[in-house]
Amino acid sequence: MALFGLFKKKKAPKKSSYKLSRSVGLTTAVSHHGWYQCVHCGKNFRKGDIQIDHIIPRSKGGTDSAENLQCLCKLCNQKKSNNMQQTKVDLKRRAKQLSQMKKDSAKKEKQAKKAAKSKRH
Ligand SMILES: [Zn+2]
Repeated sequence: MALFGLFKKKKAPKKSSYKLSRSVGLTTAVSHHGWYQCVHCGKNFRKGDIQIDHIIPRSKGGTDSAENLQCLCKLCNQKKSNNMQQTKVDLKRRAKQLSQMKKDSAKKEKQAKKAAKSKRH
C-alpha cells in the first residue's frame, strides 16, 4: 500500500549537553561555529575536548541553571576538580556573561524590529 511509508517512525533527536550549552550561551564567546572557549585558559577547543562544568559542584548543592554552568577544557576541569577557590570568580564572570548576553539579544531584537518597520515603508 502507498500509505505504508507514512507510518515509519521518526527518530527522536538526542538532546546533547552541547545543545543545552548553546541555549544558555556558553558558546557566545567564540565566533567560529562549533568552537568552545575554555573560560580558564582562554583557548578554543572542539566540543570533544571541552566539558560543561558546574561552577558550584553538584555535590556541593550546585544547580543545572545557566548561572552555574561554564565551559572548561578537560585539563582545567581536572585541575579544578572539587576545588572551590575559583568559584566566586567563576560565578561573577558567568553573571557578567549572562547579563551581556541579555543586552545583546535585546539589541538584536530592537534592530530586527527596526528593520521590519523600515521594510514596511
Ligand atoms: Zn582550559
